Amino acid sequence: MELYSPSTIKEIRDRHNFKLSKSLGQNFITDRNVLEQIIEGADIGPEDLVIEIGPGIGVLTAEAAERAARVVAVEIDEKLIPILKETLGGFDNVRILNRDILKTDLKEIIREEAEGGTFTGDVRIIGNLPYYITTPIIMKLLEEAVPAASITIMMQKEVADRIRSGPGTKSYGAISVGVQYYCDVNKVASVPRDVFIPQPKVDSTVLNLVPLKEKRIQAADEKVFFSCVKAAFAQRRKTLLNSLSSAGGMEKDTVRRILENAGIDPGRRAETLTMEEFGRLADEVVNEKAERDI
Ligand code: SAM
Repeated sequence: MELYSPSTIKEIRDRHNFKLSKSLGQNFITDRNVLEQIIEGADIGPEDLVIEIGPGIGVLTAEAAERAARVVAVEIDEKLIPILKETLGGFDNVRILNRDILKTDLKEIIREEAEGGTFTGDVRIIGNLPYYITTPIIMKLLEEAVPAASITIMMQKEVADRIRSGPGTKSYGAISVGVQYYCDVNKVASVPRDVFIPQPKVDSTVLNLVPLKEKRIQAADEKVFFSCVKAAFAQRRKTLLNSLSSAGGMEKDTVRRILENAGIDPGRRAETLTMEEFGRLADEVVNEKAERDI
């Protein structure tokens, strides 16, 4: 019997007296096509290390283990660990870690695996993410510069739409600029809500994020760049002059001068700015600070 079939999931759940946790975002995949779409999207090679976020009962893990040299699956729910040991018992290339992904040092794990000689290829990150922490997980992977060749993850459709959006659209926001600063973003699949147990209230999208070898722009100070993006979008209906002076904590005259030096009309809104314009804005903030400190 296949691991993803609803009857297998129910049988495992009942036999282990396991209760699916809503608060941990447990919505398990029950569709072979979706599994294949994630696995194909991840482009796993036989020498690769796959890190899976939130394996659940191991449906994706088993598919990855068939193709990769090594799979490390990070699952927070200790009640799933004996289940994973059972469902993945036939594989000798799977390591199960009972940890919170947000508190896990993935670079350290990759180093350990490389030193142990368990893989010689690329690192591929996969997961059907728990919806409640999708954005923190993605930003952790990108900000910590986890050395992955690809990140192939399923998330709520609306979050994926925001990540993929460009300037001039309603869904363009801090997360779009944040992710696109680090990655190329490709859509792999649309996934309807009825292929999960239990069925969530939202549809999903699988995205493939490919970290850029060379950044699209080189901000003089990345911290300032991200603060500017956050401040600009904090009150997205306001003009940049107003949003940056209230959320950014700067005098209006200073903000006006910074925007004008960056060649950006102070009457524009954050959602119209390109990545390059955010870069110019942030660099002018850095210049302004440097001049003040002189
Ligand atoms: N991969 C399985 C599947 O697709 O059927 C399960 C996906 S389910 C949407 C999300 C999984 O992430 C659950 O197994 C849940 O327990 C786990 N999870 C939730 N929060 C986590 C965290 N902070 N760290 C690691 N795993 C987490």
